[in-house]
Amino acid sequence: MTSEFRGSPWPEERPRVRPVAALTEDQDADVVIVGGGISGLTTAYALMAATDLRVTILEAGLIGMGASGNNGGQAVEGTETRFADIASLAGRQRALQGFGELATARGELKSILNAIGAPSMLTEVEGRLGIADQAIVEQWSEDLEARREAGMGTITSQVADDAPPGLLPSVPRVPRAELARQMWSKDQRYLASFGLRVGLINTYDLVETMAAHLLSSYPERMTILERSPVDRIRLSEEEATLGVNGRIVLADSVVLCTNGYAVPRVEACSPPVIEGHLRGVVGYMVGTERGSGPEGARAYFSDEDSYYYIARRRYRGGTLTAAGGPEGPVAGAYDPQIVQHPGAYDRLEAFLSTTLEGYVGPSERRWHGLMGYTSTGVRVAGQDPRLPSLYYNLGCNGIGILSAVAASKRLAGMMTDEDVEPSMFDPGVLLSSASQIRDSGPVRAYRP
Ligand SMILES: Cc1cc2nc3c(=O)[nH]c(=O)nc-3n(C[C@H](O)[C@H](O)[C@H](O)COP(=O)(O)OP(=O)(O)OC[C@H]3O[C@@H](n4cnc5c(N)ncnc54)[C@H](O)[C@@H]3O)c2cc1C
Repeated sequence: MTSEFRGSPWPEERPRVRPVAALTEDQDADVVIVGGGISGLTTAYALMAATDLRVTILEAGLIGMGASGNNGGQAVEGTETRFADIASLAGRQRALQGFGELATARGELKSILNAIGAPSMLTEVEGRLGIADQAIVEQWSEDLEARREAGMGTITSQVADDAPPGLLPSVPRVPRAELARQMWSKDQRYLASFGLRVGLINTYDLVETMAAHLLSSYPERMTILERSPVDRIRLSEEEATLGVNGRIVLADSVVLCTNGYAVPRVEACSPPVIEGHLRGVVGYMVGTERGSGPEGARAYFSDEDSYYYIARRRYRGGTLTAAGGPEGPVAGAYDPQIVQHPGAYDRLEAFLSTTLEGYVGPSERRWHGLMGYTSTGVRVAGQDPRLPSLYYNLGCNGIGILSAVAASKRLAGMMTDEDVEPSMFDPGVLLSSASQIRDSGPVRAYRP
């Protein structure tokens, strides 16, 4: 299908040179990772660093061309689901442990970037969240305490001088025009703004650079096979057998890093715990290289139903302004060639026209990607409580870059029998009856 618009900017910034290898004969490995996005590659990286295991990644398409090549590229510490909601599902201690793991993920990402020789791939900028709705300001300020306790980055707050006196009483008051200026916004609807550090990163570049690094650093132990979709996984007491293009791959353990894509058919003594707890959501973005201005990231909440985000960053000698927010449930199998919710792009254009001074639309790029939402609104990372050879690192729930890094470290710890503290990421949390009520979607707290 052709389009008058260009697609995602991320693969274009880093043209691929590595040849594609597909599975052509039966193979075996100690661990098979299904899915070659940031979750799969950071899992492989953590396993290579911490073990002597032989690891194979099986990717249905090409490395990094899922959500990792089609996102907004904002590395944010946090979850889309409110801390209070996570605590009520998983328990306060597990929620705090998980937030603590997210708090260290940026440092972990930096050490990966140093190790793969790409320290400048992450740019740290000022991020700012503008909220027009009083109830959302109150929810967000409730979560600040938990973020502090977990060691997440400092957040500065400001509130409009005409806000109700009881709203954030100890926070500095500024004119609405100042809040609008901070938010790069022409309209003055914002009641409060929260500032935090955000990392900007091209995760397609990250994933592809990690793939090349792992293959050259561990030629005996690391295998990456693309155009190799896994259609079924048979689990016995001793091993896992994965079916791929009429061939099989045998392994001791399998890690599903398949985001919101359909989980391959699992044949085992009991169903995988993820069954019935994952739904695919398509997220939409537009981007233009015609704008200018300082680098940074902004997120805009008008009410529960209206949420947008913008990131401005250097891109191939110019400036890229990328905006997202609209999303919709995937119908059937996700196909990157099909736009399932065409109105999403019109909403983004309307938002940019009413927000950014001097914006001339339409943006010349449009792209979309698939996100996986779990019934708890939290990534699932760890061992299936009923099927010991099956592990997960999936379900981005809207914010997936730093959680993928945090979860990969956690998984490597589990696979090397380290003492890993219970956390909100544990797959067993899906078994709590309360998680069923979230099937209609998590409560939003913050998105990048
Ligand atoms: C529009 C959009 C904007 C986003 N913006 C941000 C953001 O700014 N900040 C942030 O933190 N997060 C953001 N996210 C989320 C983030 O991009 C994802 O959490 C992250 O990229 C997911 O990585 P992943 O490796 O889990 O999944 P993916 O990158 O989707 O990789 C999964 C891979 O699994 C493969 N696969 C699936 N099924 C099979 C199978 N049966 N056999 C073999 N391979 C299979 C797929 O082909 C795919 O390559 C955004 C997502 C979208 C869609």
